[in-house]
Amino acid sequence: MTARTDVFAAQMAALGLGTRPQSLINGELVDGTGDAITLIDPYTEQNLSQYPDAGAALAKEACLAAQAAQVEWVTMSGAARGQVMQEIARAVLANAEPLATVEALVAGKPIRDCRVEVTKVAEMFAYYGGWADKIHGEVIPVPSGHLNYTKREPLGVVFQITPWNAPIFTGGWQIAPAIATGNGVVIKPSELTPVTTVALVYLAEQVGLPKGLVNVLCGLGPTAGQAAIEHQAVRKVIFVGSPETGRVVATAAAKALKPAVLELGGKSANIVFDDANLKHACLGAQAAIFSGAGQSCVAGSRLLVQRSVHAELVEMLTNGMNEIKLGDPLDEATEVGPISNASQFAHVSDMVARAMSDGASVLSRDTTPDKGFFVPPTILNGLSNIDHAVQTEIFGPVVAAIPFDTEEEAIALANGTDFGLAGAVWTADVGRAHRVADQVRAGTFWINSYKAIHVSSPFGGSLNSGFGRSSGTDALMEYTSAKSVWLDSAPTPRIAFGYVS
Ligand code: NAD
Repeated sequence: MTARTDVFAAQMAALGLGTRPQSLINGELVDGTGDAITLIDPYTEQNLSQYPDAGAALAKEACLAAQAAQVEWVTMSGAARGQVMQEIARAVLANAEPLATVEALVAGKPIRDCRVEVTKVAEMFAYYGGWADKIHGEVIPVPSGHLNYTKREPLGVVFQITPWNAPIFTGGWQIAPAIATGNGVVIKPSELTPVTTVALVYLAEQVGLPKGLVNVLCGLGPTAGQAAIEHQAVRKVIFVGSPETGRVVATAAAKALKPAVLELGGKSANIVFDDANLKHACLGAQAAIFSGAGQSCVAGSRLLVQRSVHAELVEMLTNGMNEIKLGDPLDEATEVGPISNASQFAHVSDMVARAMSDGASVLSRDTTPDKGFFVPPTILNGLSNIDHAVQTEIFGPVVAAIPFDTEEEAIALANGTDFGLAGAVWTADVGRAHRVADQVRAGTFWINSYKAIHVSSPFGGSLNSGFGRSSGTDALMEYTSAKSVWLDSAPTPRIAFGYVS
C-alpha cells in the first residue's frame, strides 16, 4: 500500500468502514454483483479502491427496506424524529476530520473546503431536525361552512441521485429534509465518490436513525439508478447532476408517472459595473470560478465586465490566479486541488482547446503541480456570448471574460444562455443592483457577493438548470404533499346530488 492508501484505510476504519465502498441496505454493508468500479485518487492518479456495482438487485432491496422502515418512522412524533436528527448533526461534527479527509482523498477537494462542507452537513440535519415537529397544514375558511383543513403528508420513499463535486454536502442536503418530513430514502451517490455518503448514513444509524430508513446504493446510474427510479415503492426522484443525465432521469421518472426535482448545471453570469469596488469584485470573481477548481454548479463562469474597467479587472484576476495555492488536497495550505476525475479533466481540457480554435486568447496560470488532474486557472478573452465555451458548462477553473457597455446589454448577455441557476452583480448603485437582480434569470442571485449559501434559503434553477427547489421551507414542500380534509359539522349533513356548496 502507498502512504495515501494507508491514510484512506485508516480514515475509513475510523468511520467503521472497510477500504472498499459497500452499499448500505437495511443497516447492512453489502457488496453488489455488477461490474467493477475503480476509485482513483485525482492527485496521484493512483487507484484508491475498487468495488462492484450495486446493480438492479440491490436497488430493489434498498427500495423495499426504505418502504418498510418509513412506516415506523412516520408513526414517531415529529419531536422524536427531530431529536434523532440533532444527534446526527452532533455525530457528523464529532467525526468531521475522518469525513473531510476521505472526501479530500476521493474527490480531490482541498481539505479546508471539505471541513466546511462537513460542517454544513451538520447544519442541515440541525436545521431540518428543528422543522420536524413544525410541519403542519392550514385551516381554510371554505364558503360551505365545512371544517376544511390540510395536512402535509410525507411522500413515502424518495430516490435521490447525487454527483461527484460535493458528495457529502449534496447527500446531507437532500437526506435531511426528506427524513424530517417523514420519508424513507434510497440515495445513489456518484459511483466516483460514494464513500462519504455511506459513512454519513452509517454514522447516523449509530446514533438512532432507524436501520433501513436511508439506504445507500454504491453503483452506476444505468443499472442501480434506473432500477430504483422504476421501483414501485419510489414516489419521487430528486436528481442533482448534469443536464444531459437529468433529461434521462426525468424521462424515466415521467414514464413511471413519478415527479422529479432536477438540480442541474449552470453558466452563471458574474456582472461587474465600473462603479464597483474592483478589488472586491476581483476577489469575488476568483472565488466564483477558481474555488473548488470551478467544479461548482453555481460557478461564475461568465465574467461580464463594463468595458471601461474590463482590461483592468482581467489584469487583476490574472495576477490573482497566479497567487492561488494549487496542490495536494490533503495539504492544509492548498486552496485549489485537481479536477476530480479523468473524464472531467479531459472535458475541461477539450473545452479550452476548442475555445482557442474559436479565437479565444487564453490567459492561464504559469505553473501547475506536475502530477494529478490539474487544469490551471484560466481566463478566456475575446469570445462572444454565443461561442461554445460561453454557452456550455465547462465545470472547471475556466472563465470567459466578456465586455459590455450598458446595463441593458449586461442583462441581455446574462440571460443569453439556456441556463438559469445563479448570477451576481458588483456595483455601488443600489438601484441598479435591484434592477439587475430582478431581471437576470436565476434561482440564486448575489449583490456584491458570490457563493453565499445556507440551508435555510431556497436553491434551484430554471430551463437547463432544472426545476423544483432544495433548501429552506421550499424543500419541505418538495418532500410532502397536501391532503385536504372536509368535515361537515352541520346538524344535518349537507348532502347534494353533486357538488356541496
Ligand atoms: P452526472 O449527470 O454525470 O451524474 C450525476 C449522477 O447521475 C451520478 O450519481 C450518476 O451515477 C447518475 N447517473 C448517470 N446516469 C444515470 C442514469 N441513466 N440513471 C440514473 N442515474 C444516472 O453529473 P456529474 O458529472 O456527477 O456532476 C456534475 C454536474 O452536476 C454538473 O452539471 C453540475 O452543474 C451539476 N450539479 C448541480 C447542482 C445543483 O444543485 N444544481 C449541484 C452540484 C452539481
